[in-house]
Amino acid sequence: MQGIVVTTESEDLQLIALKLKTTRKELGYSQKRVAEEAGISRLRYQDIEAGRSSARAVTLINLGARLQVLESETDLSYERLLRLYKEVAGKSPSKGQLPFSTDWFMTWQPNIHASLFLNIHEYLNKVAALDEIDTVIKAYQLYLEQMQSEGLDPLLSVTRAWRLVKFVDNGMLTLTKCSCCGGHFVTEPYENARHFVCGLCQPPARAGKGSSANSLRLH
Ligand SMILES: [Zn+2]
Repeated sequence: MQGIVVTTESEDLQLIALKLKTTRKELGYSQKRVAEEAGISRLRYQDIEAGRSSARAVTLINLGARLQVLESETDLSYERLLRLYKEVAGKSPSKGQLPFSTDWFMTWQPNIHASLFLNIHEYLNKVAALDEIDTVIKAYQLYLEQMQSEGLDPLLSVTRAWRLVKFVDNGMLTLTKCSCCGGHFVTEPYENARHFVCGLCQPPARAGKGSSANSLRLH
């Protein structure tokens, strides 16, 4: 499993990046001109000015995010993201479509992982004033910590976690309270909450008998 990457990008650096950009625009200077006067390449200067976006992108790549997530959540160009991805991940990003169906979240083990993540996410949403993507990042880091402390493999990828939040925002999925244990689980929105029983209270027959050592087990 990948190590846990905690965002340590200081707010000071972000502030400096912002001031740099504001001042440059006030002076009517192009990025090229500032870069030339500073004796650095324009790309390098762009990096500095885009400090915040780059920091987010690096964190997301370290967490294993797909390129599409970065494209959607940062204002960096595709070319820059591609370069950054190769630099940080040490390989090219995988091609192919993002999963766009809600089915995965409805299967037994994934549902429990997704529910855990979403509960953390909803909690952070209430108590912390973070940007949307930072809430996803922080919640996912806390989910990974939880998995690590329980000795479980994190079934939920950061890309799926991000996708899940979009599904909830779009009203395609929601959290429903289990009528048995009172926990909140990811369900379709039309689930009847009065009769809903979660996958932990009523696991499928073969649940927990899988061969994987680090998967969820019922005692
Ligand atoms: Zn339950």
